[in-house]
Amino acid sequence: MALTVHMSPEAGGRLVLDGFTYDPRVPYTPGEVVRIKVLPAAGYQFAGWSGDVPAGHGDDVPLEVTIGEAPQDIVAHFAPVSKDASELVFDANFENGNGILRYLYRDSRRLVVEPLQVKAANNIWWHFKIHGIVPGEFLVLNVVHCPIAGDSQPVYSYDGVTWQRFTSTRAPYVQKFTAPSVEIARNIPYSYSRTLTLAAEMRGPQVQVQNLAVSEEGRPIKMFRFTDPDEPDTDKRVIWIMARQHAFESHSSWYAEGLARWLLGNHALAAALRRQAIVYVVPMMDVDNVYHGGAGKEQLNALGERVDLNRSWGPNSPWTVIRAAQALLGTLKATHDIAAFIDLHNPWYPDPPHWHIRHTFGTQVTTFAELWSSELAATGSDVQWKHWLRVKAPDQSEDIEPTPGMLTATEYAEQALFSQYEDHLCFTIETPHWHDGYGNPITLASLRAYGEALGRSLARFLGASESE
Ligand SMILES: [Zn+2]
Repeated sequence: MALTVHMSPEAGGRLVLDGFTYDPRVPYTPGEVVRIKVLPAAGYQFAGWSGDVPAGHGDDVPLEVTIGEAPQDIVAHFAPVSKDASELVFDANFENGNGILRYLYRDSRRLVVEPLQVKAANNIWWHFKIHGIVPGEFLVLNVVHCPIAGDSQPVYSYDGVTWQRFTSTRAPYVQKFTAPSVEIARNIPYSYSRTLTLAAEMRGPQVQVQNLAVSEEGRPIKMFRFTDPDEPDTDKRVIWIMARQHAFESHSSWYAEGLARWLLGNHALAAALRRQAIVYVVPMMDVDNVYHGGAGKEQLNALGERVDLNRSWGPNSPWTVIRAAQALLGTLKATHDIAAFIDLHNPWYPDPPHWHIRHTFGTQVTTFAELWSSELAATGSDVQWKHWLRVKAPDQSEDIEPTPGMLTATEYAEQALFSQYEDHLCFTIETPHWHDGYGNPITLASLRAYGEALGRSLARFLGASESE
């Protein structure tokens, strides 16, 4: 059937349909979905769609249109950039902010941004603010100037609390903003300060807020210890959960926060878990790189070597937080059974949800994953998650270039913390940046629900039930 797309005015830019320049002779089949993008020309800004546009999608770029039986006619509107428009102001100079404004095209309200390579890491994290927006205008944002930090589905917020996704998953983004200032990031940000705020909210006899360590740059690394003070600690099993060994993986901290808030609460399963276990939650390990907006992966150290916090769990780790974690875990192991060691991450873009499992824990964690999924459903949140499990072959190390002395956290835990593997858990959860595995975007509500599901399933794993 005929799909006609016009530009108004013709000089406003270019139309791209499914990646190709618009050609009105191309026939479409009813039911087919077509994605229409615009690339505004210099001097013009996109100004929205009209015509046979799906309701509520008049500002989407790309615009997704399902071909119907009748001819469809769509108009892409462009407006000349006002000479009186306020100057756009780019700002990455705040906590966790990172971004270099490479180009600012005043005549088309277009910005080209790339991340600063903090500590010479291959940094893919950017987080910045734009001020001076004329509310209702469409800006063009390009981030593929630095290819590894390119395509994603960025998030934006007008208040730093509520986050929405861009419409597009591919740069250059043409996105409408409705307030004078906007904060944009690759993923929902989670700053170091938020761990301090969260720590201040962790109050009650069931939790102790401790500093696991103080970072190289002097920042306290918060750790929460949950247990029931009315039950003697002697026979309790220990559970260790940490997040954010990689600084750009902000969703792992949200996951840990969801777990911490559930553990603090009065759900019967949370109370049962606190009676049976001492649960340690560290929401952010690499606080310094998070503070500076770094990626934290493969950064250069003072000796010119490539180092990565998660691969530095061997003897004499250069990181004080790892040495402190190992010392504490060693002490705990002497008096308690360590039941679980869980490391929260986000994968490389745009990988789907998955768990990395040491082969020695393959059976237990595979069973636990089913428990986790059913407990996610039991949260009543309607949040979904479809993961795949990746159990390593017996002699398979991490899929990264081996570095002498390299040991990941779970490899360390497997070797140092468990006297037996049966009835114990050791694995890594990779929570995606974008989608839950079913195509739904990951939101703060999803991340909270995932944390709660982990708490609930750990309680069940230890044999707790709601009726206790
Ligand atoms: Zn990671």
